[in-house]
Amino acid sequence: MLIVMKFGGTSVGSAERIAQAAQLAADSAAQGHQVVVVTSAMSKVTDSLIAAARQASAGHWDPAIRQQLYDRHKAVADAVIGGDPVRHAAVLEALSQRLDRFEKLCFGLSMVHELTPRLLDAISGTGEMLTAPLLSAAIAAKGRASQPVDATDLIVTTDQFGGAEPLMDETRSKTQARLQAVLANGEVPVVTGFIAATRDGVLTTLGRGGSDYSASIIGAALDADEVWIWTDVDGVMTANPSEVPEARTLAEISYSEASELAYYGAKVLHYKTILPAFRQRIPVRILNSFNPKHPGTRVSVEGDPSLAGVKAVTSIRGVILVAISGTGMQGIPGIAAKAFDVVAAQQANILMISQASSENNICFVISAAEAPGVVTALRSALEMELMRGHIEEIGAEPVAIVAAVGDRMRGTPGIAATVFTALGTEGINVIAISQGSSERNISMVVREPDAAAAVRAIHRAFHLGS
Ligand code: ADP
Ligand code: ASP
Ligand code: MG
Repeated sequence: MLIVMKFGGTSVGSAERIAQAAQLAADSAAQGHQVVVVTSAMSKVTDSLIAAARQASAGHWDPAIRQQLYDRHKAVADAVIGGDPVRHAAVLEALSQRLDRFEKLCFGLSMVHELTPRLLDAISGTGEMLTAPLLSAAIAAKGRASQPVDATDLIVTTDQFGGAEPLMDETRSKTQARLQAVLANGEVPVVTGFIAATRDGVLTTLGRGGSDYSASIIGAALDADEVWIWTDVDGVMTANPSEVPEARTLAEISYSEASELAYYGAKVLHYKTILPAFRQRIPVRILNSFNPKHPGTRVSVEGDPSLAGVKAVTSIRGVILVAISGTGMQGIPGIAAKAFDVVAAQQANILMISQASSENNICFVISAAEAPGVVTALRSALEMELMRGHIEEIGAEPVAIVAAVGDRMRGTPGIAATVFTALGTEGINVIAISQGSSERNISMVVREPDAAAAVRAIHRAFHLGS
């Protein structure tokens, strides 16, 4: 089998974790599989790179940050490959070069004070460029030939910095050209997650948490047999285990369930991960690098059709409900069209839409970062309607979305009733509701402080913990 395996931040977060990740990759290779590794940055590194970039753009560049990053990665090199002076020296050299580049970028930024999305990508992508040589050397230390590969040589994207999209045809030919010979040689390539490059070679990133997406893009480009996401929990669970302690691992879910869950806040998978794998029907597994004997979750076409009803509950915090309302909106055509044109022009991503049947209110949910721009643009595009009193208000309110997801909610009566009874019993007010026509998701807007209780109430009502 050709397996693309991705290790998340906690799975490469220390010397011990990197040794374990290297062991898992080497074991699969020893079983006769072709293995491509995709690595995240060590846990918290991307956050500190972004913080450093922001500080630098405010004129404060603190060289101690470079030293801290060097020390943390060098400590891993000492522990994991200290016994091999040649390899150790080569890794330290790679770390220094990559941190020199980071330092120069930050220093430049502290002079020009302008943090563009392009520059932020160039800086925030450094973390993966530090782990790839380390993890590759750790695999070699386990006796399996390996080489680090920068994904800038594999994945070609658009220039939407901070959330670039792969151009699959070009990515396919570049990835195959670069990796096939390495694999044929029995080597394990260790690819930087998260980063990619435009056609002109300018570094881009796929968005926060995007290393999962890198793995499925590379899996699709290589026609891999499976994509494995190694993380710090036993798979995709019925709810976020840090919020719902009784959450259980789901043995099997469908591509559509996985996409819905990821889209509605299950951080365990980046929300774009499923699509490239789904297009080619490549099975995806979510596995625990801290508990590798656990079979984890398998994402497949069928999912587990024996499980009816709601399979899992998720939430997205920190989002904004934009509501356009007014009794005069009734019967005035085109307000919704105008509003959604504005949102599209702002390139904002709508997470959920709901319109009351009275037509007095159209509301939708977008991310907090996008809200100010969208609201300003709406007020200007709908100025006439506001002046004439057809629209009374364009409001923006911080909220959370809670979603109940399951393929077989479709055709199972009484699900909505159970959801709303559960919330009602807890005294949780539902601000807006939406159920897609696919019927595999009911989402509700609630006040942010109610989100955790809402997730727990729905989880309990469907007995998902037992
Ligand atoms: P990685 O660093 O491996 O990419 P992430 O932190 O991005 O890991 O994702 C794993 C985390 O996702 C888990 O530790 C858990 O807290 C969170 N999570 C949220 N919802 C779910 C869910 N439904 N199932 C499993 N984990 C979830
Ligand atoms: N290191 C990146 C991040 O923290 C990508 C990832 O870990 O998936 O967002
Ligand atoms: Mg992640």
